[in-house]
Amino acid sequence: MPAAPLVLTTAVLGLAIGSFLNVVVWRVPRGGSVARPPSACPRCSHRIRARDNVPVLSWLLLRGRCRDCDAPIARRYPLVEAGTGLLFAVVAASAGVAWTLPVLLYLAALSVALTLIDLDVHRLPDVLVLPAYPVCAALLALASWNPGGEADWAALGRAAVGGAALLAFYLAAALAYPGGMGLGDVKLAGVLGLCLAWFGWDVLLVGGFAAFLLGGLYAVGLVLAGRAGRRSGIPFGPWMLAGAWLGIAVGGRLGAWYLGLLA
Ligand SMILES: [Zn+2]
Repeated sequence: MPAAPLVLTTAVLGLAIGSFLNVVVWRVPRGGSVARPPSACPRCSHRIRARDNVPVLSWLLLRGRCRDCDAPIARRYPLVEAGTGLLFAVVAASAGVAWTLPVLLYLAALSVALTLIDLDVHRLPDVLVLPAYPVCAALLALASWNPGGEADWAALGRAAVGGAALLAFYLAAALAYPGGMGLGDVKLAGVLGLCLAWFGWDVLLVGGFAAFLLGGLYAVGLVLAGRAGRRSGIPFGPWMLAGAWLGIAVGGRLGAWYLGLLA
């Protein structure tokens, strides 16, 4: 498949997934099922009709209000849908037609959900993080198998070691500074370590380090702006995820450049 149709198809998929993520982000922290009941207006309890459930478009056509009772619908819903669509398009455009695309898109959807939930309630729910281990392992195995091309099983071994290493590093940090790092962060670290190390040790190093760099810069910014004391906790999950994506985007190039300096 040439690039343009792939990017377009993936963007549309991203819009639909974004719509589903809105449900996940709202219901999972509240212990609800994501499958039922069907979405309804929180004020008048009318079920959302299928034609009013089209990502972004419905919100615009309804001018951000419930068709039945005129209650405002948060701007965040269409923004999450559009953002997920855009993220999917960018990932597809950079990965191209490759067996790494499924794991990257899964990681993108997981990143959107976990970032919003961590910002909302300062938690990274097990029900989202723990299934990511088998799902990522399976999708990374598919990427290693690389049907139609050359298999790369060494990458899968590297992923297993990298996942264990980043998990152990975060666990040590959580034990050393019990107030700083949560167990949710530790569990997410294993998932990110798996994915980052599959792409390379340099990607794991850059991605792992970038989380602390970005989170640290943000914390310093907050303190300087007088918006946070040194002891107020900031959710770290979003920075772990942002760092991981930075690692995937530039880790390989940065590693090659650094090795070039040494040589
Ligand atoms: Zn309503």
